[in-house]
Amino acid sequence: MQVRNAIVTGSTSGIGLAIAHALAVDGCNVMLNGFGDPVEIEKTRQAIAEATGRTVTYFCADMGRPAEVRALVDAAKHTLGPIDILVNNAGVQHVAPLADFPDEKWDLLLAVNLSAAFHAIKAVIPAMSERGFGRIVNIASALGLVGAPHKPAYVASKHGLVGLTKSVALEVAQRGVTCNVVCPGMVMTPIIEMQVADQARVTGLSPEDVVQGVFLENQPIRRPVKPEEIAAAVVFLCSDAAAGVTGTSLAVDGGYTAR
Ligand code: NAD
Repeated sequence: MQVRNAIVTGSTSGIGLAIAHALAVDGCNVMLNGFGDPVEIEKTRQAIAEATGRTVTYFCADMGRPAEVRALVDAAKHTLGPIDILVNNAGVQHVAPLADFPDEKWDLLLAVNLSAAFHAIKAVIPAMSERGFGRIVNIASALGLVGAPHKPAYVASKHGLVGLTKSVALEVAQRGVTCNVVCPGMVMTPIIEMQVADQARVTGLSPEDVVQGVFLENQPIRRPVKPEEIAAAVVFLCSDAAAGVTGTSLAVDGGYTAR
């Protein structure tokens, strides 16, 4: 089995954590990143390392800051070696009508959800091209393919990520490097739990009714997608078998964008 080195941004919880775990199970050394309680993060790091026998490290870069994105890539190279796989997963959300949407939230969402991927890809692509192998997977959203009200920055940043993916894929198509984007539907993670709690407060509905009536209304499978289901798609896109898959959007959205 070939051991590959992977960076997964925003991997201290939710989808990113599932991706980091699945890549380690698949034989990768992994650099974790994201915010959270340092004690919990260290427990998570150790648990993945012990369960898989792989090297698992952690670097706390704020993906909204380009210099820290570059520092993350440098730290990963230093501790793991050449980077084979980059998963741009870190993401944030803010929900408000456009007229009330705070300027600083617009800047934050564009920085973390979109610009961070640009800076990370820029930092890994020369060495990937030189070595003739690389797998870049961006985590967008079903809202990278279709719109939704009250989420202007999220929808714009995720559509931007889909476009960035295509441009990168075309540029490196003949260098053994692929770049694809996974577009999840609703997955029950902290980013959604916060929105469910907000909607329950505003509407007076129970959290369960908000999930079924609002968040799963347009997701035909009528259940949340599991983080492991997103991770499995990423593992495939990072495999040798996916060498011919590049520049594409893979919707793992329970049918959300099929309508
Ligand atoms: P989550 O809140 O559980 O995880 C987000 C991760 O990003 C965490 O590790 C967090 O610490 C990290 N993060 C946030 N801001 C950061 C920053 N500035 N620098 C570094 N790390 C930062 O949410 P999730 O659902 O696992 O989201 C992961 C990705 O999946 C996001 O890009 C999100 O937009 C996307 N997504 C989620 C859903 C869903 O329903 N949960 C649907 C579609 C797309």
